[in-house]
Amino acid sequence: MLKKILIANRGEIALRITRACKALGIQTVGVYSDADKDLMHLRFVDEAVCIGPSTTSESYLNIPAIITAAEVTGADAIHPGYGFLSENAEFAEIVENSGFTFIGPRPEHIRLMGNKVSAIVAMKKAGVPTVPGCDHAVTPQNALAEAKEIGFPLIVKAASGGGGRGMRIVERVDTLLESVQAAQRDAEMWFGDDTVYMERFLQKPRHVEVQVLGDGNGHAIHLYDRDCSLQRRHQKVLEEAPAPDLPPEARANILEACVNACKLIQYRGAGTFEFLYEDGEFFFIEMNTRVQVEHPVTEMVTGIDIIEQQIRVAAGLGLELQQEDIEVRGHAIECRINAEDPQTFMPSAGKIEQYFVPGGAGVRVDSHLYAGYSIPPFYDSMIAKLIVHGKNRETAIARLRQALDEFVLTGIKTNIPLHKNVILQDKKFCETAMDIHYLEKHLLKPFVKEDK
Ligand code: ADP
Repeated sequence: MLKKILIANRGEIALRITRACKALGIQTVGVYSDADKDLMHLRFVDEAVCIGPSTTSESYLNIPAIITAAEVTGADAIHPGYGFLSENAEFAEIVENSGFTFIGPRPEHIRLMGNKVSAIVAMKKAGVPTVPGCDHAVTPQNALAEAKEIGFPLIVKAASGGGGRGMRIVERVDTLLESVQAAQRDAEMWFGDDTVYMERFLQKPRHVEVQVLGDGNGHAIHLYDRDCSLQRRHQKVLEEAPAPDLPPEARANILEACVNACKLIQYRGAGTFEFLYEDGEFFFIEMNTRVQVEHPVTEMVTGIDIIEQQIRVAAGLGLELQQEDIEVRGHAIECRINAEDPQTFMPSAGKIEQYFVPGGAGVRVDSHLYAGYSIPPFYDSMIAKLIVHGKNRETAIARLRQALDEFVLTGIKTNIPLHKNVILQDKKFCETAMDIHYLEKHLLKPFVKEDK
């Protein structure tokens, strides 16, 4: 087994990884920026190393500083969490070339999936259904011919894209060229790579994804699916597992296709295949080669500790689980709690005054917050995840309502009122999963003060 893991992340996921290491008897090294010396997990790790100033490029994205921290503390492995360097193939390579174990997929797979065009090509080859579109780069020169094949509306996306940024919907041919050029500029600015591609814009899809685990030697399993359709600006707000109301056959086929793709490429570690789902059909959009923010809903319904599995696979212990071992029990829902004004979405950093988390059967809170902690203004606004589990969706919703009522978090603004007073009061959502536009179009419009 691994002896000492350096956690190259912050916030709730750093605490989550610390907890998993403790449960496995593995020593931990925490790293932090100047702004983060009060992070909760630093109280529990065996060693803590400051890796630089508050700016992420100088701390959590500073590869030499992280490698040095691993060297001086004698860590034997690095867990990247999500975000930051977790999907940076070069980082994974440097970690491995420096003699450490990277807790994640092989660099070649991070690279393959990090470029959405190469990911789509690989998935097509593996028999995973993709969105009708082009599986190569689009330029102002070939855009018109490609668009004629795809039809309108279509969506122009950055090959290296992430975080829902830089996507442009094109309704008509007369705005095609300027959209492609604008998308190229955005892609260059956000991701340092101006490669863009196009696919059909699906009108009312749901976002359904499949969690997989592979041992790196051709054994792979799935941990079923999640629905993450409630989104704002293409960012997930609430997630659930399993995805409600999927036809059994369509589900079985997509789960099998994902597992086969993992077996084919000999995928190592945890990963997520993301799909748009419309009228009984699945369309692959991308694969995330890391643990997802929403992994707890899958843990709640399967009882599998996904971080533990990542660590075991990285340690070379293989995958002890077989597909028959995986069973879905009940239903789980996660609310992402963000430090932001619920009506304007402006970030709200500052000091937490009162903090009381809900409890009871089937309630889990993954968060690094505590009363007196000051949220620094430099990082992601997601500060807590409230996850509930029940024997079915109805029970999970009832428990979630009560849990949101119990949650006390004062001193800053949060989006708890959005979850409590808007989403969980919506009759349609409470009946079943809605499409990816539902939150913005039907729930936020009447609720927000201004949508800039
Ligand atoms: P990112 O990596 O930036 O998150 P994704 O490709 O995963 O980008 O897409 C994020 C979200 O954007 C999806 O969940 C969906 O809401 C929307 N989206 C992406 N592609 C399409 C499409 N072809 N049609 C409709 N919506 C799309």
